[in-house]
Amino acid sequence: MMEDFNSETDSDYTSYWRDWFVSSRGNEYFCEIDEDYLTDRFNLTGLNTEVPYYQYALDLVTDVFDLDADDDLREQIEKSARHLYGLVHARYIVTTRGLAKMLDKYKKCDFGKCPRVICDGHPLLPMGQSDLPSMSTVKLYCPKCEDIYNPKSSRHASIDGAYFGTSFHSILFQVYPALSPEKSVRRYEPRIYGFKVHAAAALARWQDNQREDLHWRLRDFGVPFKFIEDSDSEDEDVDYEYTEKGTEGSKDDKVVGDTASGRMDLNN
Ligand SMILES: [Zn+2]
Repeated sequence: MMEDFNSETDSDYTSYWRDWFVSSRGNEYFCEIDEDYLTDRFNLTGLNTEVPYYQYALDLVTDVFDLDADDDLREQIEKSARHLYGLVHARYIVTTRGLAKMLDKYKKCDFGKCPRVICDGHPLLPMGQSDLPSMSTVKLYCPKCEDIYNPKSSRHASIDGAYFGTSFHSILFQVYPALSPEKSVRRYEPRIYGFKVHAAAALARWQDNQREDLHWRLRDFGVPFKFIEDSDSEDEDVDYEYTEKGTEGSKDDKVVGDTASGRMDLNN
């Protein structure tokens, strides 16, 4: 199919626009929008004022483009078509069909892997920090550490974040909750010649206590919540024991006073 396109007669150019778009270099984050979705005007509401040369751009995207335009105009229409495709893409990927297609790409690591060492190369998802175009470029969300990252390649780094939107990655896990990665208490511990760095250890202890609180608050509210480390029964016992002591208050105070060791040892 791509060979056909490369020969670049006009009819090839228009016949395979979407194919060409999603398979060209730098567009790996996009999935192919169904023809049905693109031709339903309801799905395109409001975009005619957002995209210059709207009708030509839509014709190009839906493969019915038939205009004898000079190179300049053609280039502008092409640019508009890409913008239109991106804006429709943001709407499409939160539909059932769109979510399934993006899920497929996520499973194949099409969006890359989390650069955080402790995430063990967990697959990423594209997301925008704004739903309005031209506000910020696309970012990558790691569901394991729940943080966002800049794309590695400059081709990806210049894509508008609005083509993915602020909600897609969260909706995906609402629709497919089983895919939500297990949360881990594992983390990097700064050390100097093997000894935990005092301030970092104190902060880590405080964060661990917050996490423990959250754990039990969620349990009180009946929200199912688990860290990977909670899975085996042995850890469950330790967890329970710790919290029981915590509620008495005395053990907690002793741990805080013991600066370099204490709570962190539970993770080892
Ligand atoms: Zn991560």
